Amino acid sequence: MIMRVLIRGAGVAGLTLAHELASRRVEVEVAETSTRAGGGASWFAGGMLAPWCERESAPETVLTLGRSAADWWDAALPGHVIRKGTLVVAQPRDTAELTRFAARTCGFDWLDADQVEALEPSLAGRFRKALYFREEAHLDPRRAINALHDKLSAMGVRFHFGAAADFPDAGFDRVVDCTGASAIGHAADLRGVRGEMLMLETAEVALSRPVRLLHPRMPLYIVPRGDGRFMVGATMIESDDCGPVSARSLMELLNAAYALHPAFGEARMIETGAGVRPAYPDNLPRISVEGDTIRVNGLYRHGFLLSPYIASDVAAQIVEPLKTMAPPLAVRFKTALAAEHENTTHLKIGASR
Ligand SMILES: Cc1cc2nc3c(=O)[nH]c(=O)nc-3n(C[C@H](O)[C@H](O)[C@H](O)COP(=O)(O)OP(=O)(O)OC[C@H]3O[C@@H](n4cnc5c(N)ncnc54)[C@H](O)[C@@H]3O)c2cc1C
Repeated sequence: MIMRVLIRGAGVAGLTLAHELASRRVEVEVAETSTRAGGGASWFAGGMLAPWCERESAPETVLTLGRSAADWWDAALPGHVIRKGTLVVAQPRDTAELTRFAARTCGFDWLDADQVEALEPSLAGRFRKALYFREEAHLDPRRAINALHDKLSAMGVRFHFGAAADFPDAGFDRVVDCTGASAIGHAADLRGVRGEMLMLETAEVALSRPVRLLHPRMPLYIVPRGDGRFMVGATMIESDDCGPVSARSLMELLNAAYALHPAFGEARMIETGAGVRPAYPDNLPRISVEGDTIRVNGLYRHGFLLSPYIASDVAAQIVEPLKTMAPPLAVRFKTALAAEHENTTHLKIGASR
């Protein structure tokens, strides 16, 4: 019998899971309250696949689970991943920040000014030292989300856009909630971390890879999107408000962009936006079983980086329940699922309800 799964939410978590399930011949439907895929935080992401840099503030798990993300995206969406590494720079007065960053990370080379110029000619003469994380990659999240939606549709996945928040789940063997920050208040311990971004357009600067500018108060990154467009991000504010960018954040993001290159001062600002990163207290994703629903949430600032691993993990558990998986995230899921099997008789994976 073909298994039927309903996924709530067409952000990066829901779409990557739909891909993994559809690839395993599961019949998948996706209910999304917005009128298009990527109705939440995923739309505002930088799209950096940067597990080595993220290690600066994240536990080792993020590096372990995220290092194969670029390969997953490459296989799922050939041509979307740009493998040119990440450059990390600091103003001469903030050189201590570079040293601190280096002490908390690995997988980088120190560059001098000539090497910075060779990598990014637009930054010639601007930075004496830099860190280069050559294994890292990035993609354009909006292009990737749209492409994933198109590919999934071609694979037979049915999308219900503009669906009611309580889209009926009758007839599905499994329901997976991937609703991101909208689950705050429903998912225990889930909180929001607001991230504001802007998009600048200028022909005066050319960058080939994400550049992170370290600063004691306001670290910033700029991700080139092609055609002279640059995503500038991002604030980290403990809030689940997804309203317009504040004047202060706008000033800080623009100041940092200007500090990276003064030509950004003449750039056109073509967009501002804010997304709410869903996060648990340990800032790690969580897979949990609540009643009849599996919840996949808490991707925090690592949705594009970690959802490939999580999606494969969850899909494997749905299709082949309770087989051995790699710890540590899987353990929580496995334990929760085992408890569910012990405690209930009416809910079994693969059986219709
Ligand atoms: C400014 C910014 C920059 C970031 N940069 C990066 C980065 O460079 N790299 C990286 O890996 N991560 C990055 N992130 C983090 C990443 O965007 C998030 O971790 C990720 O988007 C979370 O994905 P999600 O699918 O869980 O949630 P979302 O993307 O929020 O998706 C949830 C979806 O569910 C829908 N929905 C809500 N309620 C319902 C309901 N009841 N029924 C059906 N659908 C519903 C929403 O409309 C939405 O489409 C960034 C985030 C921000 C805000």
